[in-house]
Amino acid sequence: MFPIGHVASAVLLAQLRGRRPSLATVVSSQIPDLLDKPFAWVLRRSESSHLLAHSLIGWLLFRLLAASALSRQRSAELSDAYLSHLLADELHHGRVPWLYPVSTAKRRARDRSGRVLRIGLILEVLSAGYLAVVWLLTDRDRGVALDNRSD
Ligand SMILES: [Zn+2]
Repeated sequence: MFPIGHVASAVLLAQLRGRRPSLATVVSSQIPDLLDKPFAWVLRRSESSHLLAHSLIGWLLFRLLAASALSRQRSAELSDAYLSHLLADELHHGRVPWLYPVSTAKRRARDRSGRVLRIGLILEVLSAGYLAVVWLLTDRDRGVALDNRSD
C-alpha cells in the first residue's frame, strides 16, 4: 500500500476511536515502511520489505518507546496509527509477518500477477477520496467533523 492509503487508514482508526488525527498520526502511519523498506531496498540487508517493523514485536517496541516518551493519550494515538499500517498492509496484500522473528510466515506469498497492484491502486483512490471528504467536513478551528458538532 502507498503512503496515502496508510494515512487514510490511520485517520479512519483515529476517528473510530474518537480521536482527532494529528500530524503525528500521519507520520506514525508511515513508520513501518520507513524502517523496513530502506533495509531491503537501499541497504539490501534484508530480502523482504516487511520484517521486524511490520510485526507484532515491532509494534510492541514502538508502543513501549512511545509510552516511555509521551503522554498516555498521545502514545495510544501513535500506536494506533502504527497498528493501522499493519492492518492495512494485511488487508491489501497479506504479506505481514505478524510473528517475526519467531516465524516469517505470511498469509499470502508474493503475487507478481499485478492483481495486488490493481487492488492497491483502487484502495489508494478510495483513500484519497475518503481523506478529501474528511478534510472538507472538518472544522479546521476545532479539528472535528462538522456532523459531530452538538452546538
Ligand atoms: Zn508497510
